[in-house]
Amino acid sequence: MNFEALFTDNKDQSISGRYVTLDSIEPILKRLNTNNQLSVIGESVLGKPIYKYLIGTGNIKILLWSQMHGNESTTTKALFDFLNLLHSKSDLATKLLDRFSFCCIPMLNPDGSELYTRENASKVDLNRDSQDLTQPESRVLQAEYNSFNPDYCYNLHDQRTIFGVSDTGKTATLSFLAPSYNAAREVNASRLKAINVIVAINEVLQELIPGQIGRFDDSFNINCIGDTFQYLGTPTILFEAGHFQDDYQREQTRKYAFVALISSFLAIYENDIVVNRIDEYLNIPQNNAVFYDFIYKKVRINYDGIEKITNFALQYKEELIENMITFNAYFVEIGDLEGYYGHYVYDANEALYSDDEDGFPKLGKKANFYLNKSIKIVNGLIIK
Ligand SMILES: [Zn+2]
Repeated sequence: MNFEALFTDNKDQSISGRYVTLDSIEPILKRLNTNNQLSVIGESVLGKPIYKYLIGTGNIKILLWSQMHGNESTTTKALFDFLNLLHSKSDLATKLLDRFSFCCIPMLNPDGSELYTRENASKVDLNRDSQDLTQPESRVLQAEYNSFNPDYCYNLHDQRTIFGVSDTGKTATLSFLAPSYNAAREVNASRLKAINVIVAINEVLQELIPGQIGRFDDSFNINCIGDTFQYLGTPTILFEAGHFQDDYQREQTRKYAFVALISSFLAIYENDIVVNRIDEYLNIPQNNAVFYDFIYKKVRINYDGIEKITNFALQYKEELIENMITFNAYFVEIGDLEGYYGHYVYDANEALYSDDEDGFPKLGKKANFYLNKSIKIVNGLIIK
């Protein structure tokens, strides 16, 4: 299958970048609401609508939710690209709509999406609230799960740029997990179904982004929604959309998330998942927090007359400023940085550090400095 063309044909041009809010998606939902597929199933803490979009007439029921964490929008974009595909009247669309019913909650946390926070407006992480159900958003998802009674759950998230694939030095562009259903992390029939779907996705993605797929940590925490649904006996798949080289807007990752969705449904369709593929699943390397956005190596630093050659790491903070997500780079680590990788690496070759403040790098400081007084670095990047 030509996934590139499929993506280009169905990519929703009206949303892009990292800041995806209810205002961004409501026009798309209304456009896609051609046959009363759209409904409001609840309200957020601040009274914003939580939408459900139901499409397909098939007997395999798939429940998907995105932006449970408000600042994790990549899979929301991919989900709309997928809904466009389902509206394309192509053979693939017909095939999927005949076999599946898709229940999509594209933005479970509209308040957090607006504020660009992981948490909801009460500052609660909804992915730690699946037992207590203290928040309206958590109760909406639980109620939908109970009434829809899905065959599979898709728990759609983003992960930070810090994640690499094991110690390979490759970035984890997408990571997956079949969450555990108990503390012993055993595999039962339901978890095995999720594992087999992930192996099928991995096979397709390895062709497109070799070595850039990770397996997320499977420690059991019943307060996490995926673990809860797996515990309740529904095969559940966690998606974590991560960094692709130079793609801080996550428009490339969006494409691979779209491909992952389609290849998973095709695998379920083909019933390609009756065999036991645990070994292949365990062969997907684990996620590892080994990346920084920038590493500057071999920088000469003068601490009150004592010179030292060291390395430092900078990391972006995503800050919502005037309705835009701004990437601001800060010093986060100074030292040998053994075993760490940078998305951007610069060998300073013992050039002398200076800045317009106190003259040496400090954790938490903004990344504006000079090397040998001649090379100017603004917000982590060299200005030519
Ligand atoms: Zn998340």
